[in-house]
Amino acid sequence: MCEDILTKIISHPDAVNQEEVAAVLSDEEITPKLFSKADEIRRKYLGKDVYFRGIIEFSNYCRNNCLYCGIRGGNSVVQRYRMTPDEIVSRAEIILNEGIKTVVLQSGEDPFYTTDMIGEIVSRIKNLGMTITLSIGERDFYEYRYWKDLGADRYLMRHETADESLYAQLHPGDHFETRKAHLLELKRLWYEVGAGSMVGLPGQDDIALAKDILFTYQLDADMVGIGPFIPHPDTPLKDSAGGSLEKTLKMVALTRLFLPDANIPATTALGSISPQGRQMALQCGANVIMPNFTPSPYRAQYALYPNKICIMENDKACGKCSKLLVQNAGYEVSESHGYRRRIAKAHE
Ligand code: SAH
Repeated sequence: MCEDILTKIISHPDAVNQEEVAAVLSDEEITPKLFSKADEIRRKYLGKDVYFRGIIEFSNYCRNNCLYCGIRGGNSVVQRYRMTPDEIVSRAEIILNEGIKTVVLQSGEDPFYTTDMIGEIVSRIKNLGMTITLSIGERDFYEYRYWKDLGADRYLMRHETADESLYAQLHPGDHFETRKAHLLELKRLWYEVGAGSMVGLPGQDDIALAKDILFTYQLDADMVGIGPFIPHPDTPLKDSAGGSLEKTLKMVALTRLFLPDANIPATTALGSISPQGRQMALQCGANVIMPNFTPSPYRAQYALYPNKICIMENDKACGKCSKLLVQNAGYEVSESHGYRRRIAKAHE
């Protein structure tokens, strides 16, 4: 029965409901078939290319208190840091020197960086000829517009979970509708928009996960980042179980079936729960990798979750290491800017 659902997702994704997606998620026997279908579709539309994005985690200050996150404002143990615009731009130059043309600027929600400061950083990196993804959380709509006008290309803001009550529980004072409104505004402004979610949050069942898949499909997300939830010892969710490798990979593969041409990263969190996690993600639908270029000592302080990989690496090593990983998994390193390669009719 689940095989029929896979066929339906590929041919008529609009007609698929959340119960059907949940049925695939809970069926263990379908997994190999799901993974091979996802890889088949990825190769058909995107070939073997893997896009690279160098990530700079430039501040771990955060005004929010997301229950799962290691850099939540309420965590008084974590040592906080902020990089200066000069430091950020010089890291972007290092990324470019490694042959990577896209930079992701990520931080906690840190109002210290004003509209103009972010604008200045965007302009300076744009002058290097790079493509820029901002991942700095919810800001005012006029700011999104201003930065877009200055040349920001993409905005990465995971929706975290599309289950409204779970969203409200995990994000004190915040609501899924607000997150959704921000993502829609970013789409409207013609950013390439990255959404995405965590897998294995407390209370998250297969129906909740199915909502995540259908949400990113309906949003027509240009990028979808999916990683396992990993409990952090200094957060209220420290005793939770966390997400599994298999379920996270199934979410990646299902996303590929629904969005054949979206950019889907093999996330660092997947690599952190299993040494083979990122390779396996590439083999079941993922086509992007985001090597870490945050300089030491900051890198270890951007601890969203424990046991994050590459913390002790030489701070320029991740580019080379990720290239080897891609080749070993049987794919090819793309040197392009990695825009979404839109296909006119994904579902003929
Ligand atoms: N402030 C930015 C960046 C958030 S950090 C924003 O709001 O978009 C990047 C991502 O890390 C989050 O979107 C979340 O999905 C993930 N994350 C945070 N804590 C995590 C944890 N304990 N386990 C796994 N992923 C986590």
